[in-house]
Amino acid sequence: MTPRLEILMYHSISDAPGPTSIPPQIFAAQMQALADSGLPVVSPDAMATPPQTRSVVITFDDGFSDFDTIAWPILRTHGFHPIVYLPSGRMGELENWVGCNTPRRPLMSWDRVGHLAAEGVFFGGHSITHPDLTTLPAETLEQEVVRSGQDIAARLGQPIRHFAPPYGASSPEVRRCIARHYTTSVGTRLGVAGPRDDLHDLPRLEMFYFTDVSRWQEHLAGRGGAYLAIRRTMRRARQMTRKHLGVG
Ligand SMILES: [Zn+2]
Repeated sequence: MTPRLEILMYHSISDAPGPTSIPPQIFAAQMQALADSGLPVVSPDAMATPPQTRSVVITFDDGFSDFDTIAWPILRTHGFHPIVYLPSGRMGELENWVGCNTPRRPLMSWDRVGHLAAEGVFFGGHSITHPDLTTLPAETLEQEVVRSGQDIAARLGQPIRHFAPPYGASSPEVRRCIARHYTTSVGTRLGVAGPRDDLHDLPRLEMFYFTDVSRWQEHLAGRGGAYLAIRRTMRRARQMTRKHLGVG
């Protein structure tokens, strides 16, 4: 089996519309299929070394309250320990950034983050205020990147080694800045991580593409390559159109 790390990307587990929400029943079915596949779900620290086998890391961006109330109870029954990337200056508030949902979704309180850490959830940095890091002057960029992890580390009393730039938006300069302060960084580039991937530009699997659970089972069984390739091409075309139109 090709050594590779499948880094799953989630945001909100809820019935809200839009691609950043996955309904609870579908999430539960995706996790059951993952458990049935027998693939090892490993700690996020596995992202720091080239994969030796095929294994899975589960990630959540933004730290929505539904992670605590809906996702974690399901993950815990399977013994899966995910990482949640937090915008450290927004915890306990409603999401309030470009592209956020309507109605706005609440983010977890620090108190809940502390409880979850004690139960085995990992946390990573996702900036302070959730800006597009590629648009910031150098000094603000450094602040958004460094202080995010420092805030979380101070709250939890443990070092923060992993980072996810908001919107997956990064540039060589942003990645250099992140690399000075974190061991790994994930983006929203679609794919699975292989031994030669840049630890500061790791691809992820957008789980919205696998809401058809039979499709997910096919992928887990190693038969999803063609589907992923099509999705990757469509995603790239969409991103190029957006860039062309100057949006997103
Ligand atoms: Zn985000």
